[in-house]
Amino acid sequence: MSRYIGPVCRLCRRETAASKTGEKIKLFLKGDRCLSKKCAVERRGTAPGQKTQGKQRQKVSEYGRQLREKQKMRRYYGVHETQFENYFREAARVPGQTGRTLMQLLERRLDNVVYRLNLAASRAQARQLVTHRHFRINGRIVNVPSYIVKPGDVISIGERSVKSDVFQSNLEVAKNRRAPDWLEFNDQDNSAKVVQLPAREHIDTPVDEQLIVEFYSR
Ligand code: SF4
Repeated sequence: MSRYIGPVCRLCRRETAASKTGEKIKLFLKGDRCLSKKCAVERRGTAPGQKTQGKQRQKVSEYGRQLREKQKMRRYYGVHETQFENYFREAARVPGQTGRTLMQLLERRLDNVVYRLNLAASRAQARQLVTHRHFRINGRIVNVPSYIVKPGDVISIGERSVKSDVFQSNLEVAKNRRAPDWLEFNDQDNSAKVVQLPAREHIDTPVDEQLIVEFYSR
């Protein structure tokens, strides 16, 4: 399945330009650069493409808002259209609030968990580290970024991997940054435990999930 390999900062600029409130939307797709002054959204908040620069913001329809919100969430977690639809269908089958369940499913993806634990600078790097077989779940190698973790799962790094430069530097960050409350990072053995399912308040993804539910309910 093909993956978007174009300039990812364009995606943030597109969301920022579409934001109704003029708020800067950062999808955090480029690791530390996203926190620096080099961030494209900080430098210019216009939509990608010369034509839109300097023009007034156009009125967005209700459908347009729902579509943008869906695209934002999909890009935030780096999943494809079909994959995203499958997550939505799965969430809709579960009793309760579909939007919350959808967010919960995306949060529980192994690549996202690695990123949330600060063991990777971005979700893209997390995905690569997972596919390169650096992580274990309950002692067994898992190389599938879409693997859904569950409470009680223990995530650890392979013995040889932990000594690599990339993990040495990422672990330094992980030890100094707090992981969300639903995950527990153990800096003694560099492992982490899923202590509970993520609640909405644990998820800082700036998305209105209700608009996504409305998008798929049309
Ligand atoms: Fe988005 Fe990060 Fe690029 Fe900024 S640096 S525009 S947050 S991907």
